[in-house]
Order: sequence, then C-alpha cells, then structure tokens
Amino acid sequence: MTIRYDLPLWRPPSEGSSLIIQSTIGCSYNHCSFCSMYTNKVFRIRPLEHIFSDIDAGARDWPQAHRVFLADGDAMSLQTESLHRILDYLHARLPRLARVSSYATPDNINRKSVKALASLKARKLSLIYLGIESGHIEILKRIAKGASPRGIARAIQRASEAGFQVSCMVILGLGGREYSERHIAATVELVNAAPPTYLSTLQLDLHRAAAPGFVPRWERHGRPFQSLNDDECLGEMARLVAGVAPARPIIFRSNHASNALSLGGILPRDKEAILRTIAQARNAADSWLRPRSLRGY
Ligand code: SF4
Repeated sequence: MTIRYDLPLWRPPSEGSSLIIQSTIGCSYNHCSFCSMYTNKVFRIRPLEHIFSDIDAGARDWPQAHRVFLADGDAMSLQTESLHRILDYLHARLPRLARVSSYATPDNINRKSVKALASLKARKLSLIYLGIESGHIEILKRIAKGASPRGIARAIQRASEAGFQVSCMVILGLGGREYSERHIAATVELVNAAPPTYLSTLQLDLHRAAAPGFVPRWERHGRPFQSLNDDECLGEMARLVAGVAPARPIIFRSNHASNALSLGGILPRDKEAILRTIAQARNAADSWLRPRSLRGY
C-alpha cells in the first residue's frame, strides 16, 4: 500500500518537508488567467476512504511526520465536517502532528463562519496559503481572479481572527507596465488593511507559467500585455516593501524560485536593510540575480 498521488503535485516551497495528502484533485475555481497548475485536472473531491488509505500509507512509511499539507489547489473548499474527519484521522495516525496547512481561495474562507474556521484551527489546521496576487480591482478582473480586494482582505481578516497563520502571495509584474504603479499602490493598501502573517512575492513569467496554447487575458481583449523586466519587477518589490506599514509584523520573503532576487526579513523592522539590498542588486545589473535557467514555478 502506497500513497496514490494524482500528478502533477504542487505545494508551497515551505512545505518541502511535509507529508502531502491529496484531499481534493485540481482547483474548484481553476479560472485565474496566469495559472496553469491544474488546467489538466477536473476538480473532484476524493472519497474519504481513499484519503484515509493514503494517511495510513503515509503514517506507516513516515510515522514521525509532524507537518501535513492538504493538496491540491484548495482543500479548504471541502465542507467543514469533511475536514474535521480528515484532521481527526490525521491526529489518530500521526502522534507527532503539529501543523496542517492548505491552499485556500478567498471564497473558501469567506464561505465558512469564523466559528467553523476556529474549529479547524483547534484540530491543528493552522496555516493557509492564499493568493492576493494584486490589490487592484481592475487587475483582479483582468486575471479573472474571482475575488475583489475587499473579499481578499475579508478572508485574511477572518482567517486571522480564527487563529490561522495566513501566508499570502503577491505577483510582481501582474499589471504589466500599464498598471505597475497602481498594482503596487493598491496592494500596499490591501496588505496594510489586512496584514497576513507571511507575505511573499512571485515574479510573473507568462511564457514559463503558461500551459501550451495559453493566451494572456489582456491579449484576448486586444490590448498587448507589456511584461516587466527584472529591474522593473525589483522596482515593484521595492515599492511594496517601502509601502507596507502593518499594524503587526509581517514575515516577508521572495524565496519562490520565480523571483530574480531571493530576500527575506520582518516588516517593518528590516525594511531599510531589504530596500538597500534591492537597490544594490539593481545597481549590480544581472550579477546578483538568479540566472533565468534556474528560475521556475
Ligand atoms: S491561482 Fe489558485 S485559485 Fe486560481 S486557478 Fe490557480 S490554483 Fe485555482
């Protein structure tokens, strides 16, 4: 008996040492124009007995596992009762279990009551990964995000209120040249209104990220999308870091493999140091940057 993965399998960089259990297959939304992670999968909820069987296999092969990531794209779309049963089974089979995490859409979170979210937190589902992508409403519409800045902020606030750690992603370059200033200004506003626990950047590269035949949504509307170069993306990162002034500290990082420059620190404490490093990298041209051949999603 082994874990039966339905490939491809995606997980955040920070879940590299977690046991991965697929509770759902694909993404229940699956429309974001920049994302091709689950375009070859039809969304479905796995039968509980299959999930339990995978947990049994994981517990047998790795009884000391203490972190579990529930895949695929939005396991938080499951009914709260189903998540309770999965979490209770994980507890029963993994005595050292300390943390369960999952990707989530804003809609997944906003559909659950804070009380329901807190009941998941009480069962150690304590970290969600939620894409902000951009705080600008026009960009969110154009990428077909299916969420407004207000809905995203509400999801972050409600998950935080329930006791979750919230890890959010912002996509540098997502507005192209035309929307670059507005993309970052609105994103700063959203982050300051609803500060997550972690804030990460991903750097847009449509050619690498896209599935074969993918046409950026803006091109579909007859407006050429002007991608940002590395220096312009670093400029966006600098404006983001400079603008974020959260009511509570945020752990910032740009360690996703798509980024030209990998950085980390706590905001606002390390703001000046991070900004200095970005400025030095921009002055040094390409020598500080991750070679394109080593970037990925
Ligand atoms: S970005 Fe997230 S919500 Fe959007 S299609 Fe991809 S997995 Fe689904």
